[in-house]
Amino acid sequence: MRILVTGGAGYIGSVVTEQLIESGHEVVIFDNLSLGHMEAVHPRSTFVRGDLADRAAVFEVFDTYPIDAVMHFASNTLVADSVEFPFKYVGDNVVNGLNLLRAAVEHGVRRFVLSSTANLFDKPERMPIDEQERIIPGSPYGESKHMLERILYWLDRTVGMRYAALRYFNAAGASVLRGEQHEPETHLIPLVLQVALGQREKITIFGSDYPTPDGTCVRDYIHVMDLAQAHILALQALTDGSRVYNLGNGRGFSVLEVVEMARQITGHPIPIVMGPRRPGDPAVLIASSDRIRAELGWNPRFPDLRDIIQTAWDWHVAHPNGYGK
Ligand code: UDP
Repeated sequence: MRILVTGGAGYIGSVVTEQLIESGHEVVIFDNLSLGHMEAVHPRSTFVRGDLADRAAVFEVFDTYPIDAVMHFASNTLVADSVEFPFKYVGDNVVNGLNLLRAAVEHGVRRFVLSSTANLFDKPERMPIDEQERIIPGSPYGESKHMLERILYWLDRTVGMRYAALRYFNAAGASVLRGEQHEPETHLIPLVLQVALGQREKITIFGSDYPTPDGTCVRDYIHVMDLAQAHILALQALTDGSRVYNLGNGRGFSVLEVVEMARQITGHPIPIVMGPRRPGDPAVLIASSDRIRAELGWNPRFPDLRDIIQTAWDWHVAHPNGYGK
């Protein structure tokens, strides 16, 4: 298939592209490089630099390349940023997604995979969180993904768009060539590894008074390679109908456990300081991925936190100052 990957120069989109190409698909990447990196673009993909806000440019991609399916990663993705700048999220994320969907529908494309998020579940009643959980977005970011999921639901019912919405918990780890680099960096694992590289003095722990065993937040870290595999399985399954899946390992690790594992792997003491809670952070987020395991046979290859942090560390050591530096 020829697959249009928006955000294919970004962290998850670039690793998914790698696996799509390895599985024999052709990939057209559409990315404005505002958050992505040219060095992350797969050399065997077709790269189009463009912005999803530019509707004519989006239509032109579909006019130029016969696209069979879309995977949509290009997005603003930070919870705290979305609280400060809501229009970037319930505005741009949604409008850009609509431009993409309209172009896809008008060009007869009926297969779509959406990057969605655990931020749909702000007040979960059960842990781990399965797909039956009530959706209560935790921020304008979560709401923007929820809106796109709802638009897809209606496109399925009205024009036969078959979609998969994949709600990621905490994506982490790296492939050999592609890893996690944001500017500014806000994510726990890359920040901890920057301390180990001597680029930061210490890591601030956002809250130590949560109702968890050690008082720090618990998250479900999922290896980006396993996440990528789930996209490929979901794409293949679209012919049997639309679907939503929660994607995680089903195991939670506290912030302190992540830091301790990074100390073991890097051999660096990684000093910590305790700080206040970060607004919007729930105490515990753990996914139940039983549905995708049962329906698609998804089976994570790297469920251990050690493998996740080791691969991230290997990538950071190979790219100490990030891509291209
Ligand atoms: N975190 C932290 N210090 C940091 C960055 C993150 O204590 O400098 C915590 C954060 O509060 C959360 C966990 O690490 O509980 C994972 O945060 P991250 O931003 O990586 O992902 P999120 O869970 O927000 O998607």
